[in-house]
Amino acid sequence: MGADTLATGDIVVVGAGIVGLCTAWELRKRGFDVVVVEQRFPGYGASGRNAGAIWLQTRRAGTELALAKAGNEKYKEFLREFGDVFDYRNQGGLFFFENDEQGRILEDYVSDRRAAGLDITMISREEALKQSSILPDTAIGAVFCADDAQIDGVQFVNALAAACVRAGIRKFENTSVLSTLRQGDTVIGVRSVRGEIHASGVVWATGAWSTNLRAEGIDVPIETARVGQMLTQPVDTRANAIMHGPRGVYGCGALTDLQTYDPTIFAIPNGAMLARPDAAAATLSVGYDDSIAQNRGGSMFIGNSLDGRGSLNPHISINATNAMVSTTLDRYQSLADYGVTGLWAGLGSETSDHLPIVDRADGSYINVGHAWGVASGPICGQVMAEVIAGEDSGFAGALKMNRQTLTIDTDQSS
Ligand SMILES: Cc1cc2nc3c(=O)[nH]c(=O)nc-3n(C[C@H](O)[C@H](O)[C@H](O)COP(=O)(O)OP(=O)(O)OC[C@H]3O[C@@H](n4cnc5c(N)ncnc54)[C@H](O)[C@@H]3O)c2cc1C
Repeated sequence: MGADTLATGDIVVVGAGIVGLCTAWELRKRGFDVVVVEQRFPGYGASGRNAGAIWLQTRRAGTELALAKAGNEKYKEFLREFGDVFDYRNQGGLFFFENDEQGRILEDYVSDRRAAGLDITMISREEALKQSSILPDTAIGAVFCADDAQIDGVQFVNALAAACVRAGIRKFENTSVLSTLRQGDTVIGVRSVRGEIHASGVVWATGAWSTNLRAEGIDVPIETARVGQMLTQPVDTRANAIMHGPRGVYGCGALTDLQTYDPTIFAIPNGAMLARPDAAAATLSVGYDDSIAQNRGGSMFIGNSLDGRGSLNPHISINATNAMVSTTLDRYQSLADYGVTGLWAGLGSETSDHLPIVDRADGSYINVGHAWGVASGPICGQVMAEVIAGEDSGFAGALKMNRQTLTIDTDQSS
């Protein structure tokens, strides 16, 4: 090793979020000598800041749903391998609705997802209350999917990072990667703030920061947004199912494949703010994905606001805070007296077709564009390892960067 060389291995994985760590783990299982490099610490990115919801019902039938189902199965595999070291709960998910027109569209949604193999049904308000005691007064019924699940994201990332180290993966924290190292056209590793890391393969699993790869000539077709979340003190009621409401359909695209879908039937997220007539309102607008979930300790995750598009500024805005507080006061009055123990944002990324990108790119590999990475991350770690190892992969073809369904808003990518 030269004086400026920090490490040498077969593959260097940049980013220790759920995607990078799952990729490293799957590569190690296939016998590769793996080095993971993280600018801060495992879970510093979106992977350490989410509610851990594994939504299957909101994924459209086809590759999206197949990927989410496979991702959910991977957690069972991890639990068998690691033991009971992270929380995994399979208590289903509720998508509540607030008027009959929404209910009629959701009937189509249920038929579509049931045909795709999910255990999903329309239920009355009374039945929904048994699945989640904090159901808002405005909910007149709900869709319940018994396959939806939840993990504790921080516990999972920490357990996986520890397992990676035990398996012989070398992990460097507080080590930003600055650029790719090349010899002619061949990628031979990366240059980091602490020295060079030599490897014959480089995987970028850098989440929203993957937009920085444009400086390297890799034009990753993803868009970024700041996703906000609020956490309460433990509450004295048990909400078993993960839950979201009708304002959330904008962000996740859950209904857009249905012929009956009509966006005007679903309230505009954070409508009060968007209704402000002045010009400033346009720049202030905050999306909202309308989800709420409880952790094992009883605290409620309230989210998720969506703003800061195209920016890598991770700080939660006052506007986003307002979106979550006002929705809570509007819908979940019973939570109003509880303390707020956490308020943060994380950087999320998204692709135009809601599928991640797992592919080769300009001599490196990319595993990016995970908008619902709690579900897609574990299986895409496997897909990336299959691609690198030259194995057959059921998903790799559908996740290529040159697929036709991928477009990008050029205003944001500039
Ligand atoms: C508030 C919030 C709530 C969410 N809720 C859910 C949910 O309930 N369900 C769901 O499925 N998804 C949810 N998501 C999305 C989910 O968290 C992400 O899809 C997932 O975490 C993406 O994982 P990742 O590994 O690709 O990215 P990240 O976790 O962001 O990891 C990327 C890592 O790369 C590191 N990095 C970047 N650049 C460099 C560099 N140059 N050198 C070294 N290291 C670098 C970063 O520090 C970071 O740790 C949520 C996201 C947020 C922010």
